[in-house]
Parts: sequence; C-alpha cells; structure tokens
Amino acid sequence: MKARHIAVVLAALAMLACAAAPASAQGKPGVERLYILNCGEGVAGDISRWSPGVNVGKSMDFVDNCYLIKHAQGWLLWDTGLADAIAAMPNGLAPADPRMTHWRKPKTLASELEKLNVKPADIKYVAVSHTHPDHAGNVSMFPQSTLLVQRAEYDWPGPNNTPRFKPEHPVNKLTGDHDVFGDGSVTIIATPGHTPGHQSLLVKLPKTGALLLSGDAVHFKSNWDNRGVPDNNFNKEQTVASMNRMAEVMAKEKAQLWINHDKAQRDTLKMSPDFYE
Ligand SMILES: [Zn+2]
Repeated sequence: MKARHIAVVLAALAMLACAAAPASAQGKPGVERLYILNCGEGVAGDISRWSPGVNVGKSMDFVDNCYLIKHAQGWLLWDTGLADAIAAMPNGLAPADPRMTHWRKPKTLASELEKLNVKPADIKYVAVSHTHPDHAGNVSMFPQSTLLVQRAEYDWPGPNNTPRFKPEHPVNKLTGDHDVFGDGSVTIIATPGHTPGHQSLLVKLPKTGALLLSGDAVHFKSNWDNRGVPDNNFNKEQTVASMNRMAEVMAKEKAQLWINHDKAQRDTLKMSPDFYE
C-alpha cells in the first residue's frame, strides 16, 4: 500500500474508533455542575409518621429541593417540587392530616430557573423520584422534556384512577437502574417502596465526587439511621430493601447521601445560583 493510501485507511479507522467509543472512553465524563433549587419549605407536624415510635409528637422543619444538573449532552432536572401555584397561597398548603407537612413556597421553580437563564424548553430530561405532589408538582411546565420514570410508577393509578402523567408527555418508562447519558456520570437507581416506582439518583461530579440524591427513600437523617418506614409507604419490605441497596451503592461509590427533605443537612449546602462541580 502506498503511503497516501495508508494515511486514508488510518484516518478512516480513527473515525470508526471515535464513532464506536462510548462517551466514558473519550476522557472525562460529561457531568459538569449541580444546582440545588429551593422548591418549597414546610413544617412536619409529627415526625414519628416517618419513623413509627421514634420522636412521637415532635415537629420538624422540612425543605423540598429540586436539583438541576448540567451535562455536556444537556440539562437534567431531578424532581420538580411543589406546584408553583402554591407560591400565591398566603398561608401555604395545609395538610389534611396535621401530622403531615404544612408546605409553603417562598420561590417558584420558574423563577429559580430564570435566575440561571435556563428555559423549560432547554431541559432535556425531567426525572422525578416519585409522583407525590411535593416532587412532581411542576412536571407540566416541561412538555418538551423527556420524562424518566419507572414503568411501575407511570402505571400506578393516581387518585380517582387518573393517570399520573399526561399521556402525550414524551417518556422513557424504565424498569430498574438507568445510565442517563451513557457515560456512567448520572445514574437512576431504582429504590421502590415509598411508592411502587420510586427512584433515587447517583451523580458523580468531577470535583465534589459521588452523591446519592435520596428522593423520599428516606426523609431525614434519624429516619435513615433508624431505617424508619413511614406509615403510609406503599411497601414496607421494599422500603427497607431499598435503603439497604442505597447503603451498598454509597459504600461502593464512596457517595454522600443528600436527603431531599432534611433541612439540617441542606442548611450546610450551597443553594443556587451557587453550584457543585
Ligand atoms: Zn413522597
């Protein structure tokens, strides 16, 4: 083969190699930043509701977070928080059961995104840990984003047998763990129990390291330490098995656990527009 031909063949091979290589082989994983957004604040009436027998009658301040993740391939929003309409309610949203959480909404998700110059249409994926209203309250703000939800959650009949999501919303119905961008940097971990298709999120940031975002697999630290199963969880055995699975993932990945509703923990973290990288 002449030198020129060899060069052409080598160039073609190089192109093939690039096309075939998974993203993880092309150097650093593509996850760049994570922002914590204020998606609600509240007061839980009696936290023994989440860990029966523990701290009976004790109330606790709760927070409600959304997490916005910037990846080279696009934005992912993890949880959408309480519905923005609650921001207009002067006394917030009182629960039917006083042991539950009285929520307020000091900031809207729309304003939190605007502050970062991110438009709802810019968000490639919206993933909710589960379909309770303090996590899935603003899904309809993102009609163009692909939903990443477990099939078990999607198919779970809602109140009065209504669907949990609009049928026309683009969706990837998952059946277990899911590597969102194909490079191992952001992985949905199936953690059923709180609801049939509950999920958590493992994020491997380049500087901060690995984080496991709990969703409601756990509600606050003593609830985790006690392996407490809330009164009205969908499945008790699955809840405990999921917490054990999370502990395994955390040990393997050396991941921190960030508990969505834990105000004491979140008070130690940077809120948007600050970010983790
Ligand atoms: Zn929940």
